[in-house]
Amino acid sequence: MAKTYTLPPLPYAYNALEPYISQQIMTLHHDKHHNAYVTGANAALDKLEKARAGQLQIDVRGVLRDLSFNVDGHKLHSIFWPNMAAAGKGGGTPGGKLADKINADFGSFDKFKQQFGDAAKAVEGSGWALLLYDKEIDSLVMTQIEKQNFMHLAELPIILSIDCWEHAFYLQYLNDKGKYVDAWWNVANWDDAGKRFDKASK
Ligand code: MN
Repeated sequence: MAKTYTLPPLPYAYNALEPYISQQIMTLHHDKHHNAYVTGANAALDKLEKARAGQLQIDVRGVLRDLSFNVDGHKLHSIFWPNMAAAGKGGGTPGGKLADKINADFGSFDKFKQQFGDAAKAVEGSGWALLLYDKEIDSLVMTQIEKQNFMHLAELPIILSIDCWEHAFYLQYLNDKGKYVDAWWNVANWDDAGKRFDKASK
């Protein structure tokens, strides 16, 4: 029997990120989009299992592409939700070791915020801006992800993520992705990002 993925609940209410991210966006984003990735990942696993049992003919390349797209969508959103905190509780600046590391690697928090924000705003089409930690060079590194496929190759732990797909902002910000990214900093959860960094850099 194939293992299955499950949709985690949001760690706050659907309207908790208002006015920066609307209840309507959060409801659709979590209940429809993220849920579809969970369903899609489980469907792909099921197809692979049935194919192994001789019950189904599949195009394995297509199914693995579905699997990657949906599992990565599930994993990224599972990080993205706790990477944000309720309005009034999020935002500000990081503390602890992450703050020191950002200062060391980027020069200052403001320089980091500028460059990471620019990376998020410059995502072409659907994608993500991610802050990762690479132990090999003991450094924070930024990346843009096109759509959400093929994340497994990187294998670097994610510290901070901004979902830049249109479904993350369009209902509220229309085509102004820059305004969404600028507002997003108000709900950044630095406690969560700091915990991720502490674990990654241990
Ligand atoms: Mn999304």
